[in-house]
Amino acid sequence: MKLFNKKSWSLLLFLAVSAPTIMAKSPDEGMFPLSELSRAGLKNAGLKISEKDIYNPGKVGLVDALVQVSGCTGSFISSSGLIITNHHCAFSAVQLASTPIDNYLRNGFVAQSHEQEIEARGLTIRITDSYEDVSDKILAAVAHITDPSERITLIKKKQQELVEEAQKQDPTIKAEVSEMFIGKTYVLFRYKTIEDVRLVYIPRQTIGEFGGETDNWVWPRHTGDYSFLRAYVGKDGASAKFSKDNIPYQPKKFLKVNPKGVNENDFVFILGYPGKTFRHRPAQYIQYQQNFLLPYVSNLYEFQNERMYEAGKTDRATALALATRIKRNANVLKNYKGKLKGLRNIDLINTKKKDDQALAAFILSKPDLKSKYGSLMSEIDGLYTLINQDAYKELWMNNIYTSTSLMRIAREINSFKLTLQQQNSSEQQKAFFEANKENVKTALLEIYESYSNYADERILAHMFADAQAFQGNNQIETIQKLKLRDANLANAYGSQLIRNTKLNGCTQVLNQILSSPNAFLAFSDPLLDFQNSLNQDIQQFAVEQKRRDGILNKLMGDYVAVKEMYQSKNFIPDANSTLRLTFGNVKGYSPVDATYMNPFTTIAGIIQKGNLGETDFDYPSEIKTAWENKNFGPYVKKELNDVPVNLLYNMDTTGGNSGSPIMNAYGELIGVNFDRSYDATINDFAWNDSYSRSIGVDIRYVLWVADKIDHAQFILKEMGI
Ligand code: ASP
Repeated sequence: MKLFNKKSWSLLLFLAVSAPTIMAKSPDEGMFPLSELSRAGLKNAGLKISEKDIYNPGKVGLVDALVQVSGCTGSFISSSGLIITNHHCAFSAVQLASTPIDNYLRNGFVAQSHEQEIEARGLTIRITDSYEDVSDKILAAVAHITDPSERITLIKKKQQELVEEAQKQDPTIKAEVSEMFIGKTYVLFRYKTIEDVRLVYIPRQTIGEFGGETDNWVWPRHTGDYSFLRAYVGKDGASAKFSKDNIPYQPKKFLKVNPKGVNENDFVFILGYPGKTFRHRPAQYIQYQQNFLLPYVSNLYEFQNERMYEAGKTDRATALALATRIKRNANVLKNYKGKLKGLRNIDLINTKKKDDQALAAFILSKPDLKSKYGSLMSEIDGLYTLINQDAYKELWMNNIYTSTSLMRIAREINSFKLTLQQQNSSEQQKAFFEANKENVKTALLEIYESYSNYADERILAHMFADAQAFQGNNQIETIQKLKLRDANLANAYGSQLIRNTKLNGCTQVLNQILSSPNAFLAFSDPLLDFQNSLNQDIQQFAVEQKRRDGILNKLMGDYVAVKEMYQSKNFIPDANSTLRLTFGNVKGYSPVDATYMNPFTTIAGIIQKGNLGETDFDYPSEIKTAWENKNFGPYVKKELNDVPVNLLYNMDTTGGNSGSPIMNAYGELIGVNFDRSYDATINDFAWNDSYSRSIGVDIRYVLWVADKIDHAQFILKEMGI
């Protein structure tokens, strides 16, 4: 699987510059879908159990212990539905359960009995039940379609039909059709879902977030990024909403935890739900990322986080309300900066360009390919020229609602207003209002829960100034019509909109508008007017976006097909949040000249970092006492004379793999994946053994903290330790 062994950056740079085709022919990394497991070569790599123990259609395998927890992965580790995942995956639910007085984010949480477990609001679980290739059915539906927008409409329609059919056949599952290769391969997945999830054991912040943003995406690392949850179902075993009467779920399979951990070079593998990678894309896509998306979004998020920090500085309730948004932004922002650095370092655009040129020459060298794909490469170029022309407008539109809470509030209100207006009579209007009022209230309350007026005002003002400066195709009509001459005026206008809106106060809004359909319809506000007008621009642009998606869909299907012919092999599809396996070894690396990074960190490193006196590195004093007394229990790694805290390995992971179980050659859990090194942030575009390293929390540290620091012995007992 991995072509390159230990290579330094300089060698990598040499390869990138002088021999791009070697780079291109590097292995197809390793996010293997279940259908491709036999191609992975697991036995040769060191797997000591049968591949069938991992996945055996119709029978029980390790995959049945895997769950998708919102955007992350987790795994069952007891027969009573106990799940281990990352601290950062449970973070939003812990935030929602916390108050400035009962602050579980800061202090952690240990439920000593099932009754004490707390509802994990917002978290749901999915378990992959089965899958089926439906590419033929989807592609047959668009075989003779030339109109790009119609292509997208029909693909979506066919997907929906297949989903409904599958759910009708088995009402206990939720189906989803995932695009494996754009415009080429489609698989229908059937999932079991669990809606009642609870918090069981969350380490305190100084353990779960030790190192903070300073250490995020960094090795050496010392973060206790783990949390324990539990899945509950109704008494009949079926999925049910949170209720005190629900009972712990009994999974088909749970992972055995091996407290002995692993050693350097040991074979390891991960099952999980990696989110999104973009490796099978042409040079122009990387160019778009490097020139537009990555810098735009990282700058915007940086600005947003500065304002949100300020908002929470003197107000603990606001700080708590904004904690999840800040953390998510910071995570993406640092990842994007890492990507920008990495893309420049390996000069991926040039490598890809050369690969694409070679592909174009291959097409032209074969008459049959030339007649079918002769214009493929220039059509790709044409499409990206178009996309780049209004890239800023698109990015602005894609970010306006996620950036400002009140714009989201305005969108909710306006869209409910519109459906109310569309009712035929006042009776119908009333009935519709009564039937949907609670849902609207819940949606609005949820947004208000993480709202800060201070931040919203400044962020909207900033985005107004951005949009005012856009030229040519990037101009946004609603903003242009305001004729704001310069950035200052635009800034002031955005700021005033937030100052003058009545949407500011949650209770007031809810009382006023939710009292009757007439009150709702009569409610007017300048921010509602602005959102209405902007929404028209966005809808109009969406038509063009759909047309482009249709073109891209066809082009990318052809691009991958012809590339497979050129390289005479089948590729592994990019990550798309479906269940995958990756494997490799516990392994250090050499990220810069004259360094070698060991693959284990220890408690000694926590103490060293703590000595720096920075708050990101505060840690509980009990850790130091236990460490000084060498109170390591059975969790010590003898050669280190310490407890291993985090470990490093060359597996192929991305976002979504957070919380994935790291397993040894026997399929036993020895750690939990949670991050990658800074250099590995470009994995999403190009994986390479020389710089791609992922980071996990060693199970020995999890068990040590649970045992010696948090006195959560019941967890150990439940895991059979
Ligand atoms: N910590 C990462 C994330 O939050 C996991 C990864 O991308 O490797 O997405």
